[in-house]
Amino acid sequence: MLDASAALWNETNYQRLIRYNNEDGYEDDDVWDADTGALEGKYKGRLGASTAQQVIRQNSQAWRGYFRTKHKYYDESNTSVTEKPNPPGFRGNQDDGRELKTVIRNTSYTIEWGERSRLEILIGRDLKDEYDHTGRLRLEAKGDPNWPEYESQGRLDLQYDEVEDVYRASQPVTISDEIQATPLADETAALDIGANNLVACTTTTGTQYLYSGRKLFQRFRETTRRIAELKSKLKDGQYSSKRIRRLYRKRTGRRNHAQDALYRDLVERLYEEGVSEIYVGGLTDVLETHWSVETNAKTHNFWAFNQFIKRLKCTVEEYGIEVRERSEAWTSQECPNCGSTKDTTRHRDTLSCVCGFEGHSDLVASRTFLERQVGIAVRLMAQPERFEWDDHMWSESPCSRESPKELRSHQSTTQSGNIASEESA
Ligand SMILES: [Zn+2]
Repeated sequence: MLDASAALWNETNYQRLIRYNNEDGYEDDDVWDADTGALEGKYKGRLGASTAQQVIRQNSQAWRGYFRTKHKYYDESNTSVTEKPNPPGFRGNQDDGRELKTVIRNTSYTIEWGERSRLEILIGRDLKDEYDHTGRLRLEAKGDPNWPEYESQGRLDLQYDEVEDVYRASQPVTISDEIQATPLADETAALDIGANNLVACTTTTGTQYLYSGRKLFQRFRETTRRIAELKSKLKDGQYSSKRIRRLYRKRTGRRNHAQDALYRDLVERLYEEGVSEIYVGGLTDVLETHWSVETNAKTHNFWAFNQFIKRLKCTVEEYGIEVRERSEAWTSQECPNCGSTKDTTRHRDTLSCVCGFEGHSDLVASRTFLERQVGIAVRLMAQPERFEWDDHMWSESPCSRESPKELRSHQSTTQSGNIASEESA
């Protein structure tokens, strides 16, 4: 079923792509002339009409999103899009295997949560004989819903996770205001997004978190190198191979998995800290001002920054926390002690100043950024908590205990977030 969904997506996308004239002075409307009704007819035997319609609709949404981004790119008064976007892509192909995912309309599935949770989805007539004469495919499900009590359910996303070898389902729900989580207090957090350290975070409660990206990026780079190696061995006229495309997919899958786990872990901690809003700096400004070309490329490829923001926003929504993007230029080279930007040196992870200050550059940056946004000085209450990725979860790294020199306060607070890291595997 997932394979048929991917095939339908590909055919729909292809029909639109061949009608699309991707030049300046383009006409966007032609893509809607594709005969999607015929495609729906072709696939409804396997998918059922509602799922076939959902897949086509999702492809339409992808095209509309693409057009919006493209208009922003050509609009000179809008600087939020600096890279020319590409039209929606394909979900793999027949030879290499397709990307197995689909969407199920809200009225075409049911989930029963309990000791033995059960998901039932409608399937097409052609598949009924193979599974169940009722036309419903019954699947065992594992997981804990955030809100077991909900008013209504949205469309279900179903996907095969190649890296973990599991099928994942996500079910958006609408809940009543009374049971939605509301922030525990009115604290603020600021994030510095980087290459070596994926996220450095400071909160107005004086807590700092650092998520190291070194191991993760190392693997990303190893895979990139293997891809380049395989590419160099391709015959003339050949641009890719099954193995290469598989490596690309694995690389992306691994990164997404770590990112998903990161903001889930982070947001749970911030919620416990009573944070109600999170500031995220615009990565582009930082990149333009003083990051090296290598770091620049590294961060762009690796982070998929816009995607990160989007998914972060989805996650914080569950907690009633707001994300605010701030794109005004600011420097991560500023000394938090004397305010100088000229007398500081950045070496690897350390920012030092002639005034005697020495601290972790990304943590300092997130703190300075936070202080700018809230307009008051932030007093650090405890040692920063450092996390490393071990392929499955973010766990506190051994060097977490090192005391940074910037920390002169003897006060300490209980670190309420520790439990979350064990649960977020
Ligand atoms: Zn200084």
